[in-house]
Amino acid sequence: MRVTRISIALEQRLGDNDYGSERAQVEYSAELGAEDDALDCTQKLLWQARVQLLHTLTNSRTLAIRRKANPPERICAECKLPLGDDDDYRHPACEEAMLERRKQQEEERRARYEADRKQRDAEYQRQRELAGVASGRDDDEVDDDDEDVPL
Ligand SMILES: [Zn+2]
Repeated sequence: MRVTRISIALEQRLGDNDYGSERAQVEYSAELGAEDDALDCTQKLLWQARVQLLHTLTNSRTLAIRRKANPPERICAECKLPLGDDDDYRHPACEEAMLERRKQQEEERRARYEADRKQRDAEYQRQRELAGVASGRDDDEVDDDDEDVPL
């Protein structure tokens, strides 16, 4: 069987985020000669129709439509390379690398805090020892003074 005619129709409707939408529609049909390959011609027509749809919507007067028709490339938050359709924000390996980095940062933070605490404890201990020696005498003097004050 020889295909003599192909016809395609593409339609895309994009919402404008304001209760409205814009629709672009393309219909092509072509007569095939004996030398034409039906599949090849269909793919060419589809490609042409997609380009036409995209052209129409990316030239919309509405910003939301233009943005949807021409979305920015999705890139990995970690390595900045393009994401696949199955990826959300990072490549799986990049997600793991990020979690590992966060874990390490958390450990470093804890180690710093712990070292800080030990230093503060030591300083507190030193101050107390100094104060203890000094206030031992002071307290005695104060006590003596108190006893000397007539009531
Ligand atoms: Zn990545």
